[in-house]
Amino acid sequence: MSSLLLRDVRVVDGTGAPARAADVLVQAGRIARIGRLDAGAARGLRVVEGGGRVLAPGFIDLHVHGDPREASYAGFLAMGVTTVVLGQDGSSPSGAGDGLAPWLAAVERARPDINVAALAGHGTLRRRAGIADDERVPDAAALQRLAALLQADLDAGAFGMSTGLEYVPGMYAGAAELGALGRLVASRDGVAMSHMRSEDDDRVEASLAEHIDASRPARTHVSHLKVVHGEGEARAARLLAALAAHRGAGVELTADAYPYSASYTGVGILFPDWALPPHDYAQVRAARGEELRAALEQRMRRRGGPQALLFGSGEHAGQTLAEVAARMELAFPDALLELGPGAGSAAHFVMDEALQARLMLDPHVAIASDGGPGMRHPRSTGTFARWIGDFAATGRVGLEEAVRKVTSMPASILRLPDRGVLREGAIADLVLFDPARVRARSDYLDPFAHAQGFDLVLIGGVPAFEAGEVVSRGGHVLRHRGRA
Ligand SMILES: [Zn+2]
Repeated sequence: MSSLLLRDVRVVDGTGAPARAADVLVQAGRIARIGRLDAGAARGLRVVEGGGRVLAPGFIDLHVHGDPREASYAGFLAMGVTTVVLGQDGSSPSGAGDGLAPWLAAVERARPDINVAALAGHGTLRRRAGIADDERVPDAAALQRLAALLQADLDAGAFGMSTGLEYVPGMYAGAAELGALGRLVASRDGVAMSHMRSEDDDRVEASLAEHIDASRPARTHVSHLKVVHGEGEARAARLLAALAAHRGAGVELTADAYPYSASYTGVGILFPDWALPPHDYAQVRAARGEELRAALEQRMRRRGGPQALLFGSGEHAGQTLAEVAARMELAFPDALLELGPGAGSAAHFVMDEALQARLMLDPHVAIASDGGPGMRHPRSTGTFARWIGDFAATGRVGLEEAVRKVTSMPASILRLPDRGVLREGAIADLVLFDPARVRARSDYLDPFAHAQGFDLVLIGGVPAFEAGEVVSRGGHVLRHRGRA
């Protein structure tokens, strides 16, 4: 284990406490001392001259996709992230189809370049339990199998469970099923995270209430908080007031959000449930084509029309639905009908910037990217750079508070000990940066451009990212040690 002295830094410790000038000594993977250290303390050590730059705990990204056995998380390291949480939206991490225990072991063997934490995905477990996708009321034996699979994932170190109630098969799950699993999650002090049943302006508060009821008594977390086709700060304040009211009633409730006005998901989200698997799309089109066309047209118009959808995967990547329809010489609802719900993923420009900014500034909302390696959305490479560069460096949020929302706050949501706070004895996951130089460089046309300004990232005291390059593969697999 290397030792390292970071001299003359501004420590922003993640708790929200005021920044303070100090030297920080890292030894054996942990923070050994914070204070003024004399030259003798540096003898034989690598010394990094901070020059007054900020030293903060490595950022913890609560909502991430992808497979660390195969992909590099360099784009995350480049924006200061040292821990990613996978297994989102009801899907266990890709490749974890036999449960988290073998998957986590395989990630460990693959030596990831970033720390990896995982959630059990409710939809994945449901399929493994042999429950048909459109089964709304699984029988007692099926529920028992489902609970046993969740229990095994929790035993393996899952930090909780994610649901994806806007997707197949989560959309078929009801209160009894989710409630039984929520109690199991709570018994292990895990967190219940959800991509809620709807994020639409007229349904988001009802979806929030459903998520809370279904998760009780587990701690409840809302993934990528947003109001689809809602507008303005006042609308954000109304949603935040609903969250606060639930907290006031005793619910431990948090959320995360990202600083972009487009979501990114499969175009299946535009289609009604009766046109999605397990229903046969060709049959649905033949039997209910007119009805489906009308539903697609209405939904797409509410979501800003065909120019508000930018394909990010498949043969139409980089083109809007309006462009694709023109090329196909079809009206956009007919083009959608022709493409079908499996036509790939897209950026959906359905959010209002002022509204989303207000959500992000709430003290109970963490910042998380919802990104992944190779995802054609700039949030994958830009979220934390925008948060620091566009929000903190410009004074829209205090730097200490900005850092808290990406360090100790996500750590406490996960119940992750020894990370997320820069204190003596903590694990030395650290990031060194000058807020004034932090900049997101990616956009929708070039979603892969790495962020700038995060000069040095340490994982467990070892440099992981330096001068724009990944310099080691020292990521750890993190396992939840909840109540037994
Ligand atoms: Zn989601």
